[in-house]
Amino acid sequence: MKVLLLGGTAEARDLARLLVDEQVDVTSSLAGRVARPRLPVGPVRIGGFGGVAGLCATLAAYDLVVDATHPFARGMSANAVEACTAEQVPLLRFERPGWERDPAWRYVRTHDEAATLAGELGERPFLTVGRQELARFVPALEQLPVLARVVDAPEVALPASWRLLTSRGPYTLEGDLAVMREHGTDVLVTKDSGGTYTWPKMQATAQLGIPVVVVERPEPDPRAQVVHAVGPALEWVLAHR
Ligand code: NAP
Repeated sequence: MKVLLLGGTAEARDLARLLVDEQVDVTSSLAGRVARPRLPVGPVRIGGFGGVAGLCATLAAYDLVVDATHPFARGMSANAVEACTAEQVPLLRFERPGWERDPAWRYVRTHDEAATLAGELGERPFLTVGRQELARFVPALEQLPVLARVVDAPEVALPASWRLLTSRGPYTLEGDLAVMREHGTDVLVTKDSGGTYTWPKMQATAQLGIPVVVVERPEPDPRAQVVHAVGPALEWVLAHR
């Protein structure tokens, strides 16, 4: 039995390790977005498949697919549903839960809305939305002293008033308090990524009384079977043995 594990998340690495421990033949797939990715144990392939058609062709070599990509990697998840349906390969979507909703946080549906609201709520925004989304914040926030935290620097030029902080989680409460104090952050923008790696920033905003703008997750594909923890994902794979 050969399993294709669509990854790029800490949870996908956890699942890869558990599957390797069970002697399952699993190949992890990464998009190749970051320069020095954290690699899971076991075989790894890197780079896009070439859309649905490319993924369909790739699936000839696999019996099962687990899509454990990030909650905001909806393009990959949509392609996985299309290709697995077409090729009749069983697919499981493993999505980490979102953070428990806090009534103090302001939820928005898009990054454009997040940019507008951040500009209304503060004068020194701290953006933690990832490199790919930064350009969408420029029109609303280009005059402000924005701090943008990313894993790798974006290819697009950013406004002169913005400061880029390149770093990678997991983060600590102490570290995030220091970053926000040093910058004078008065509004934080984040995706509802969930998980523990980036949770300390949410604790830091609560301690410092800083408003938070949260971009909601896109709706999951209703055709996908979804689990929210590593254990059930492991069981699903083992049940196909
Ligand atoms: P996306 O917009 O959903 O995907 C765009 C394209 O990138 C896909 O169509 C596919 O190209 C390729 N791709 C994405 N994930 C892949 C994977 N695991 N293996 C092979 N190809 C992949 O994805 P994204 O939001 O840019 O995320 C890219 C990767 O970063 C994912 O693995 C995700 O788990 C990870 N990640 C994303 C975020 C986030 O906030 N979006 C945060 C942390 C980690 P083809 O069409 O050519 O197959």
